[in-house]
Amino acid sequence: VPAEFDLMRTRLQCDLAIIGGGIAGLWSLARAREAGFSAVLLAKGPLGAGQTIWSQGIIHGGLKYALSGQATSAARAIAEMPARWLNALQGRGEIDLSAVRPYADHQHLWTAPGLAARFAGLAASHAIRTPVAKVGKADRPEALAEAPFGVGVYRVDEPVLPVRTLLDALAQLIGPAALAIRSVEAITPPGAGDADGLRIEATTQTDPENEAAVAAIKIRARRVLLAAGAGNLDLLALAGHGGLARPPAVMQRRPLHMVVARGALPVLNAHCVGASAKPRLTITTPPDDASGEDQRTRHQRTWLIGGQLAEEGLQRSPAQQAQVARQELEACLPWVKLDGVRFTTGHVDRAEGRTADGQKPDWPVTLAEGPVMVAWPTKLAFAPLLADKVIEWLRASGLSPGQAELSALELGPHASIAPYPWDEAGVAWL
Ligand SMILES: Cc1cc2nc3c(=O)[nH]c(=O)nc-3n(C[C@H](O)[C@H](O)[C@H](O)COP(=O)(O)OP(=O)(O)OC[C@H]3O[C@@H](n4cnc5c(N)ncnc54)[C@H](O)[C@@H]3O)c2cc1C
Repeated sequence: VPAEFDLMRTRLQCDLAIIGGGIAGLWSLARAREAGFSAVLLAKGPLGAGQTIWSQGIIHGGLKYALSGQATSAARAIAEMPARWLNALQGRGEIDLSAVRPYADHQHLWTAPGLAARFAGLAASHAIRTPVAKVGKADRPEALAEAPFGVGVYRVDEPVLPVRTLLDALAQLIGPAALAIRSVEAITPPGAGDADGLRIEATTQTDPENEAAVAAIKIRARRVLLAAGAGNLDLLALAGHGGLARPPAVMQRRPLHMVVARGALPVLNAHCVGASAKPRLTITTPPDDASGEDQRTRHQRTWLIGGQLAEEGLQRSPAQQAQVARQELEACLPWVKLDGVRFTTGHVDRAEGRTADGQKPDWPVTLAEGPVMVAWPTKLAFAPLLADKVIEWLRASGLSPGQAELSALELGPHASIAPYPWDEAGVAWL
């Protein structure tokens, strides 16, 4: 153990320690503090690294249910999400995200040309609160303006958010509470007669240039929330809940091979629906920097492309996936010129609570055992609902705000914000 390991020891005490700095951990921390609890967040890697920074930023309001014609209780829960987010974005919600402007307050849906697109569930959208309305030629977005007769264009009132700006606003909100760690070394449950809660030991690298400059962080927390996405299984084992982590584990991964296109592209935030209820392509146009600047005035735009293309392209090489993406764009948007457009691709797993059939859960999934809760939001959009569950658990388990010692948080090191994966150094454009 290097000498500085002991010298630079940081000791903290709080009500709640959150491990993982994606949307689940950040939103929960903001809400826990609003509720009067002291909290600290430990993030391995920059904030949002993993699923959140890859996310397309769509605040779902139940379009999926409109497509499949269901109006279940899950559909109604989702339908509430856009309003909760919009309240937060307007500074009058559960947390203040007034620094974030959605880059689109609605998105679109278009039917693939030449296909008998099944859009039977449209009527269900009246039963839930996500209006899906057919738009006339005059109201189409630029990218769909030239769609020929037979291509239906619909407007869907689901906002689309710039994820980096969102992460930035959340980081501002929680101030120094997010510490950058190298790893969590131990999570020790309270022993008999030990009222002070769990002990968490983590290490942090104090000098990014020097691998050996490592310090220990020791935290006493009355509760711990594991919000580390795909990292939750290892943490469960570390916390002595290995039973949950062994097969059939409580978590499932659903991998994606996402595509990013860059070039002289029009702004488009939309799903293309074909013969199935799942979108064939989901395209968003994220702003290209943290300022959230709109790209309307730019010659170069970035499209983040998911949907069936990403679900079905897992075995393809980046070059093959880029080629299929080009073909799909030509088939679904033949009126958009792709001259000079270049592509890059990336693999990312969705980490979620396990379902019997391997499909996406309808809700955020949380499991609590003693002073430990593990959580997967299932969707970025569900972060408010996940935080509700966390706060309910804290209260129901008898926690009231207790003694806190967090002055050492000022020392850092503080977690930075993940860059968009396609802006990282060394990305190969095909
Ligand atoms: C390509 C893609 C597109 C998506 N699009 C949308 C969308 O448009 N709308 C929507 O609502 N949802 C979308 N989702 C889903 C959404 O992104 C996820 O549900 C959500 O981001 C999960 O958040 P999280 O905080 O649980 O996990 P993550 O964002 O993965 O965060 C977990 C964090 O924990 C950290 N970590 C891991 N292990 C440890 C450890 N041992 N110690 C400390 N930290 C650790 C990781 O580095 C990571 O930063 C999308 C997902 C993907 C993959």
